[in-house]
Amino acid sequence: MVGDGSATPVLEVRGLSVRYGPALTVLRGVDLEVPAGAIVALLGPNGAGKTTLLRALTGLLPFHHGRVTGGEVLLEGDPVRRTSASALVRRGMAQVMEGRRIFAELTVEENLRAGAVTVRDRRRVVAVMGETFEMFPQLAGRRGDQAGYLSGGEQQMLAIGRALMSSPKLLLLDEPSLGLAPRITEQIAERIRVVGAAGTTVLLVEQNAAMALAIAETAYVLQAGQVAMSGPAAVLRDDSDVQRLYLGDG
Ligand code: ATP
Repeated sequence: MVGDGSATPVLEVRGLSVRYGPALTVLRGVDLEVPAGAIVALLGPNGAGKTTLLRALTGLLPFHHGRVTGGEVLLEGDPVRRTSASALVRRGMAQVMEGRRIFAELTVEENLRAGAVTVRDRRRVVAVMGETFEMFPQLAGRRGDQAGYLSGGEQQMLAIGRALMSSPKLLLLDEPSLGLAPRITEQIAERIRVVGAAGTTVLLVEQNAAMALAIAETAYVLQAGQVAMSGPAAVLRDDSDVQRLYLGDG
């Protein structure tokens, strides 16, 4: 379900510019909108600035010697450009970073519980864990297993499941298909679709444009730090430039 255009978007990025160090400008005036309940894809080649945008959204730029030099980020209409990373998590932003950083020594269930540390109500934790296992049946059968022994695809599902344990308003996914075989990527895509259908708003950062355009309603293409194209995913899928540059049809 996409917003009807009148509701406040969960995320709005307006004219965002980001710099690393004294002089390396990486994002230039980026505009982007994620309506409530939507899956929005952010595509672009290596080095376009996708991860940098996520860092700017989650308040993690200072840890990478970067800073926002212009523009604003609105979370449910509230400016959060200067909000700390921990406060953004409390306000409902959850990120699955590139590379599936699960706790390898812990069990699947312990990993999920770790995603719910901010949730005080224990009954709620049990309920959300049940919902997470419903969304990821493959994890349910492995709940007592050490996470390090899961396959790459299962670890990605666990990383997403762990982020969902805090019932986020906005789930940010950084290249969930990275390093996974096409068949496993399809499974991950299907699970993200299920997560979106259950009501979570998703910003999906992907180099795999075919995968992202198959499950997103709207997409943005970032090139050299600027939005080069944006629109309904179905329109971008049919765009000859997108096909030539990103879908390997050229
Ligand atoms: P990829 O798909 O390879 O992850 P990306 O689109 O996510 O690429 P970024 O990682 O955001 O791109 O990088 C954008 C640019 O910023 C690149 O030129 C990169 O070298 C540079 N960059 C990233 N992090 C830093 C940093 N901490 N300090 C300086 N430059 C950086």
